[in-house]
Amino acid sequence: MRTIRGAVWACLGALLSAPAAGQTGALTPAQAELREIYRELVEINTADSAGDCTAAAQALAERLKAGGLPERDVQVIAPLGGPKKGNLVARYRGTGAKKPIMLLGHLDVVEAKREDWERDPFKLVEENGYFYARGAADDKAMVAAFAANLIRYRREGYRPERDLIQVATCDEEIIPSNFSGIVYLLKHHRSLIDSEFALNEGGGGLLDKDGRYLFLAIQAGEKVFQTYLLEVTNPGGHSSLPVKDNAITHLAAGLARLGAYDFPFRLSATTRSYFERMSRIARGQTAADMQAILREPPDAEAIARLAATPYNNSAFRTTCVATMLDAGHATNALPQRARATVNCRILPRESVAEVQRTLARVLADDKIRVTPTHEPTLSPPPPLTREILGPVETVGAQLWPGVPVVPTLLPGATDGRFTINAGIPTYGMSGMFRDPDGSGVHGLNERLRVRSLYEGQEFLYRVVKRYAGGR
Ligand SMILES: [Zn+2]
Repeated sequence: MRTIRGAVWACLGALLSAPAAGQTGALTPAQAELREIYRELVEINTADSAGDCTAAAQALAERLKAGGLPERDVQVIAPLGGPKKGNLVARYRGTGAKKPIMLLGHLDVVEAKREDWERDPFKLVEENGYFYARGAADDKAMVAAFAANLIRYRREGYRPERDLIQVATCDEEIIPSNFSGIVYLLKHHRSLIDSEFALNEGGGGLLDKDGRYLFLAIQAGEKVFQTYLLEVTNPGGHSSLPVKDNAITHLAAGLARLGAYDFPFRLSATTRSYFERMSRIARGQTAADMQAILREPPDAEAIARLAATPYNNSAFRTTCVATMLDAGHATNALPQRARATVNCRILPRESVAEVQRTLARVLADDKIRVTPTHEPTLSPPPPLTREILGPVETVGAQLWPGVPVVPTLLPGATDGRFTINAGIPTYGMSGMFRDPDGSGVHGLNERLRVRSLYEGQEFLYRVVKRYAGGR
């Protein structure tokens, strides 16, 4: 692990000349162990269609047992009727003085088609300072790092004050009906995974386009995922004799009103802290705007300017957006039915029922029926206590001096919403810094900087030790 001075890793040239890029020779034993686990996990397809989480969970279990964890503490748990939906639960025993910590991550990945990718998505390719593969970043890097670190602790004879429970789940990417993974474990094996708090994906860190370290993220809270079906029905008729009362027109006009609407601006403890800290990292108008929205009352023009950046907008308001349309049954018939899917991402403490009422009010047409497609999973943001934040700041300052720690709200959804909902405060952190373009997560040519994998491993190694105490 090299220490990085200031927030400057200037250019790709520096990465290319770094010993870790392209060569395994320069790796420490712990890094080499991680690389092997990571490669093995990535090369087991765990997508929902043709993949097999159980195979990945078993591979991980074998690694942990070979690394010295007792057989009885390493389990692969698949739900009945889901032989390929296995999860791994492994317990690294401490003195038991305190309640366990959960090291959470998911084994499954989003689909990836070989013909669309530049490289085989299920082969770990190391090229120009990056690892490329489906799952390279989301989320096999973190799962592999947790496992490699447990093995490293074991070799070092580390005895924490709490048990460390690695939970590697299936079906995290199946939204909203994730029934085989963390939901299943919470329901049927709660005692096996019960923890005081959990570390999870959704944190990491952000680089700018020149590879400079902008901030180390600690994610505290997720938005609530809620989808609605909008439907207009109509008797229809012959399209040569149209009338104004048309199902498609009703729906389209309502969707246009929704598209123009902004839900109210609202800050939580997490997002207030996010904008406070980001206002010191940002420059010029953006920095001034971030300050201006923190005042009472917040500045409306500053809100509007910041909202042009999707992440900012998602951080300070609920969003609802049309994602699918389906209408009509023949080119020469008036539509009898028009349907749209609207996906909402609701601020953690906002009322889901209230959002539905707002939707109806904004659509402003009682011909448009609004129906939720599923029960929401609420996830109140976990508190960012000193006990949680302190170790992240300390280890962050050791590894990346001068790089600030910034709390974030996740606009997306992870397994964390279920653990939070079950009373296990869950925080996103990995120490794995990513490029500003999203690194191909859920998309094509997913990648992770080689350096980020090993930095994240070291960050997690140290931060978990600080949370767990002992020696
Ligand atoms: Zn993920």
